Amino acid sequence: MLSISHKRPECIGCMLCAEVAPNYWEMDDEGLAQLHRVVRAHKHFEYGEGFEEDRSVLKEAEDGCPIGIIRIDG
Ligand code: SF4
Repeated sequence: MLSISHKRPECIGCMLCAEVAPNYWEMDDEGLAQLHRVVRAHKHFEYGEGFEEDRSVLKEAEDGCPIGIIRIDG
């Protein structure tokens, strides 16, 4: 599994992650991206897990987030 981290409070609501990886993020009522299936939260970060077959879309979200608050490891 890949490790996903998302610093949600800094999201500027550009929607990129929810468009490229809709199985992992959706835009909420506040206009912020919400990571699905959060397994852990610490301070400003929420953490999730990604399937290996989704690596390319998760990397696309990581690379495309204009403020760099998404990180994919593994
Ligand atoms: S790509 Fe980054 S700034 Fe844009 S909605 Fe997702 S988390 Fe927020």
